[in-house]
Amino acid sequence: MSKKYKSYSQECKKQNIRLVEKELSIQTFSNVSVKIDKNYFAIKPSGVVPKKIDIKECPIIRIKDGKKVYGKYRPSTDTPTHQILYKTFSEIKSISHTHSKYATAWAQTGKSIPVYGTTHSDYWYGKVPVTSYLKKQQLKEYEKNTGYLIVNLLKKLKYNTTTCPGVIVAGHGPFCWGKTFDSAVNYSEMLEFISETAYYSEQLKIKNKLPAHISKKHFDRKFGKKKYYGQR
Ligand SMILES: [Zn+2]
Repeated sequence: MSKKYKSYSQECKKQNIRLVEKELSIQTFSNVSVKIDKNYFAIKPSGVVPKKIDIKECPIIRIKDGKKVYGKYRPSTDTPTHQILYKTFSEIKSISHTHSKYATAWAQTGKSIPVYGTTHSDYWYGKVPVTSYLKKQQLKEYEKNTGYLIVNLLKKLKYNTTTCPGVIVAGHGPFCWGKTFDSAVNYSEMLEFISETAYYSEQLKIKNKLPAHISKKHFDRKFGKKKYYGQR
């Protein structure tokens, strides 16, 4: 195994373990991948508990066609979804998919998460959108078509990977992404918090949404042209 693959396989294992540590993953229901370069990414093996991943055999996937080019393990069944996302959005470096409880509850309602507060708008510019369901004739390439479902949703809403760092796939669960190795898992954690608090807000039957100007302000101070959050 080349040294290059080894460090990315190690990173991939680390990110999958982080999901477990953040209690966003149950059993083997989750997967994180990390991009190696413009041609390849490393992804969690299918059905393997993250701590037990043998990094020497971690699957390496070619972005162009989704072919496994290295590793004895079978890759995550969701690999084609990751492949379509990397192929479409060259800027992203990591992708995380979970079945975390509250985000999955929203997935099961088929409803987007409205912007109820600033924790949400600090990271998502608008609602956290939910996809439609795949049609019966799309089942043959289920995971690949799930990728296209996400891509088309972003296009339709005129969102990009910065204003929308993750979506919820209807009836299934969330996919998040980011421009560093850590960020996909971080967004998964944030999305779970947003999902939980939005759930409670709806339980409390609040009628007001966060005013749009406050929502915009919160997003812009972190990611806008004149951002000033954090250290220089
Ligand atoms: Zn899943």
